[in-house]
Amino acid sequence: MSAAGTWDSGDAWAVAEDARCALAGFRDAFVIPRHEGREIAYFCGNSLGLQPRAARDAVVEELDHWGERAVEGHFLGDRPWMDYHAFVRDDLAHVVGALPSEVVAMNSLSVNLHLLMVSFYRPTAERPAILVEKGAFPSDRYAVESQIRFHGFDPATALIELEADEPDGTLSDEAILRAIDEHGTRLALVLMPGVQYLTGQAFDLRAITERAHRHGCVVGFDLAHAVGNLALQLHDSHCDFAVWCSYKYLNSGPGAVAGAFVHERHARTPRPRFAGWWGHDRETRFRMGPEFVPTPGADGWQLSNPPILALAPLRVSAALFREAGMDRLRAKSEALTGYLEDLIRRELDDVLAIATPSAPHRRGCQLSLRVKGPREAGRSLFEHLQRDGVVVDWREPDVIRAAPTPLYNRFADCRRLVDAVAAWKATR
Ligand SMILES: *Cc1c(COP(=O)(O)O)cnc(C)c1O
Repeated sequence: MSAAGTWDSGDAWAVAEDARCALAGFRDAFVIPRHEGREIAYFCGNSLGLQPRAARDAVVEELDHWGERAVEGHFLGDRPWMDYHAFVRDDLAHVVGALPSEVVAMNSLSVNLHLLMVSFYRPTAERPAILVEKGAFPSDRYAVESQIRFHGFDPATALIELEADEPDGTLSDEAILRAIDEHGTRLALVLMPGVQYLTGQAFDLRAITERAHRHGCVVGFDLAHAVGNLALQLHDSHCDFAVWCSYKYLNSGPGAVAGAFVHERHARTPRPRFAGWWGHDRETRFRMGPEFVPTPGADGWQLSNPPILALAPLRVSAALFREAGMDRLRAKSEALTGYLEDLIRRELDDVLAIATPSAPHRRGCQLSLRVKGPREAGRSLFEHLQRDGVVVDWREPDVIRAAPTPLYNRFADCRRLVDAVAAWKATR
């Protein structure tokens, strides 16, 4: 693929590039919704990923298994429910760059964030604080604030919010590292996103972790917008824990079973945790003894036996990522997003500003766009795109997010988005 800046922006080029793309066939693994008889151009994989075709069969298979085997389904068949989360584990480990023992599929994102903070946010009078970014997703903010109060501290002093310092509303690496240096001795926890949900900015997990550890702080990441998007290397990043959801780029369906990472070095250390029987050592779980003995690794944070019908789509979806390979996906993603960015800069510079950083290593696949001009113009463009079968999303007060995902989006979809904006511009 050619380097950014040398794109031929014509429609024929996009169609030919799609034909050349080695990953193009993965699009057929997804159900693409239609609008007025035509496939939509879907740019909301950052919000709810499209349905993998294999998801329906995977769910039906478990319904049949239940119907045919009833309670024996826990132990019989190709994928006994007793260990069902383990059929997801290796592919999930590939997606986030972790050892299989470091990842577990369980619960939902906000729940996992709380559970891991129970273990990894251990405030003391000298070190009570959590560092977050000021624009954090509301659920994360509610979670950290409530944890601080739960431990008897005051968010007014124990919640440190990092303000965006770049003119485009993003955070410079220097500002993050400076804040860690400045507050380091008071910080119990540094909690940052992998990719910021509103701006699409990607963060350097390794650099943040290295600096925070130097000051003795624990480091966790919310990877809601990074998992399945960046080629993460969680193990090598050395962060202490991470959490994510699976309905965004992981395409595992509404309310899908989420995930968690606990670094190997914490696999056997005694840490306070909220325990449940499914986190108990598998070998002795069914002796039903009174004493909790955790399974080493991330599995030890499970509470309940997992929702099999909800795990089934995650199993087949994670397998697609493994098959495509995160490095190949990321390479296509950079080309695809680079192409969309280039088209916007060349053809729509008078109407659209891009809030997402331009350097590929500072973003995932999402571009956050602002319409130049009055706020109503942004809303009008958003509605025009909806009517045209181009699905993006609107975030108050004025951001349109468009995420070309490499598994099912095509270069031709990016071309279509830009043409649709141009058509809207022509009516004004
Ligand atoms: C999507 C998202 C959530 C959603 O939380 P759920 O528990 O899955 O409802 C939370 N935090 C961030 C950063 C997100 O992007």
